[in-house]
Formats: sequence, structure tokens, C-alpha cells
Amino acid sequence: MTETQFTPRVFSGIQPSGGLTLGNYLGAMKRFVDMQGADFETIYCMVDLHAITTWQDPAALMHNTRELCAGFIAAGIDPEQSILFNQSQVPEHAQLAWIFNCVARMGWMQRMTQWKDKAGKNQQNASLGLFAYPSLMAADILIYHATHVPVGEDQKQHLELTRDIAIKFNNDFGVDFFPITEPVIEGAATRVMSLRDGSKKMSKSDPSDMSRINMTDDADTIAKKIRKAKTDPDALPSELKGLDDRPEARNLVNIYAALSDKSAAQVLGEVGGKQFGEFKPMLAELAVEKLSPISSEMARLMGDQSEIDRILARGAERAREITAPILRQTYEIVGMVGAGSD
Ligand code: ATP
Ligand code: MG
Repeated sequence: MTETQFTPRVFSGIQPSGGLTLGNYLGAMKRFVDMQGADFETIYCMVDLHAITTWQDPAALMHNTRELCAGFIAAGIDPEQSILFNQSQVPEHAQLAWIFNCVARMGWMQRMTQWKDKAGKNQQNASLGLFAYPSLMAADILIYHATHVPVGEDQKQHLELTRDIAIKFNNDFGVDFFPITEPVIEGAATRVMSLRDGSKKMSKSDPSDMSRINMTDDADTIAKKIRKAKTDPDALPSELKGLDDRPEARNLVNIYAALSDKSAAQVLGEVGGKQFGEFKPMLAELAVEKLSPISSEMARLMGDQSEIDRILARGAERAREITAPILRQTYEIVGMVGAGSD
């Protein structure tokens, strides 16, 4: 069988499950903006079907989806250049996910660390959707035949599973139909940690607001959260090795590096020897400088929600031009009567 050449295409998504955190910005959104350009077709999604795998208040979900859309645009995603939409409005995602539910194995899902983390001790009471989450995520990506997926480090395992699903589908049906997707996990802050606990990642759904910096936090709040961030009593080292076994210190250095587009080693070259009492205000100032233009633009865009809805509707329409034929071909491969051919 000859190898199919797939068009370079980027897909990624963010859940409208709350605000947007600094982790989402540095690990995902900023990278989405970097990849927008001549080399790739870029497709970005507010994954509302993923958000409801844990309970969402309906009014809050609508607000969060629109606010996330405003966040994408404020951060630099051009809704003309990229395709920007919310997942539920492109039904082929959920339709392909059902096919993948029949390809993926229970054992694969049971190994997923996000499932274990989010279901916690009471797995019997978690939603079936939370368990099947990675299968829907594989469908989100593969319904576009996407070749590159920029994400934070926490999504690496889900991307490996996406590859496993594509490989098994191709093998089961003797086709070379779905691409083997490349994860793109790059930059100085692929895993931003909680400000309260250096062993936990920063998450928008963390019950503690002090654990994260939200894109919508004002300057005083950002400064307060950084001032109160957990650290150790030692001064900053001059070399990376000095951050071993110092997860909280490493986290703040990585955040500084990512915000200033430098490497952590470069940052340590500049701030090595400083105490946190001096470094934390520098970090707060940098964070405010980078985030406040985005948050004020978000607020401005939220002033015209009908424009946001119009952008999302147009994005969904453009997305369906890609997804409808790929779903039809998938149904044909699987043997569904009526799928027809192009
Ligand atoms: P939730 O707590 O609801 O799962 P989240 O903050 O984990 O929210 P997601 O919508 O699940 O956000 O993830 C969106 C993108 O942000 C993904 O690409 C994910 O890898 C990335 N991301 C999430 N948290 C971090 C983090 N702490 N550091 C770097 N990237 C992150
Ligand atoms: Mg998450």
C-alpha cells in the first residue's frame, strides 16, 4: 500500500469549562497563534462537548464558550485565517467519536491518567462521557485528517491514543485513511504548575482560584497570586541543574521564560542569585504586561456577543466543508448503506 500524503493541517481545542488560565495560554493558545501562517491550515475549537463530561451550568457554559472565543481572537487568532468554532455545531465530531468508541478498547481508556485524575476515587459515579473523552478527542483531530496537534504536556497520552486509534482503524479496515498525528509540545511552559502545589498542573477547573492566574485577572490580583505562590527559602540558581527538586521555583522560572520568549537557562543567567522577594515582583510585572492587553481586548469583544456568535457560526460552516466528506468516506469504509461515494 502506498503511503497517503496528508495536507499539513493543525487542529487543537480548549474546553469552555471556566476561564482561561496562564497554563492554557502558554501551553496551548500562544502556540496556536505561532502556528497560524503560511505552512499550515489551522483549525481551533471550543470543545463544549468535552466540557459537559463534568457538570456545567447551561448559562455558564454559553458564557464561557463565548468568552473563550473572545480569548482566542484577543490572543491573536484571526477567524478569517483560521477556522474557529464550537464543537457541538459540527456534528461529525460526535459521529466519528461513535465509530472510534467501537475501535478503541476498554483497557486503553482505563490507562488514561486524565480519567484517573478527574474521576478520582469514585469512578463508578463519573460520567460515561468522561471515560470516553479520549475517543471524542481522537475524532476531533482525525475528522480533519489533522497532521499536527499543539497541546500542553498533559495531553500527550491522549495524542498517543489518537495514534493508536488511527492505526487500529487503518488495520481493521485495510486502508490508509487516517493520518498518524504528530503532537507538538514545545516551548518553555508545556506544563505550568499550580501556584499552590508544584506537583499539580494549573487547571481552570481547580477549586482554588489562588492556584492559577486567569487571563481575566486584574493587575492587583495577578500580583497578589504571584506574591503568595508557594516557593522555597533559597535564592534562584544560575543554572538549570539548581532547579532539580525545586518544582515551585522551576515553575516560576519557566513561566517567566515563556512569557519573555526566552529559555529557562537564559532567564537563570539573568536572575540567578536573586531572592524570590525580588523575582516575584519582576514576574508579576511581566505577566501583567503580557496579559492585560489580551484581557482588555477580550472584554471589548464580549461587548458584542452577536458578532462572536456570527464568527462561531461561520467557523462551523467552514469546518463542515472538511468534516462532512471525511465522515461520509469513513461510513463507506465501515460499510454503512447510504453513505454513497463522492
Ligand atoms: P480543565 O481543568 O477543565 O481540564 P484545563 O485548564 O486543563 O481545564 P483544557 O481545556 O483541558 O484546560 O486544555 C486546553 C489546552 O491547554 C490543552 O492543550 C492542554 O494541554 C493545555 N493546558 C492545560 N493546562 C495546562 C498547563 N497547566 N500547562 C500547559 N498547558 C496546559
Ligand atoms: Mg484539562
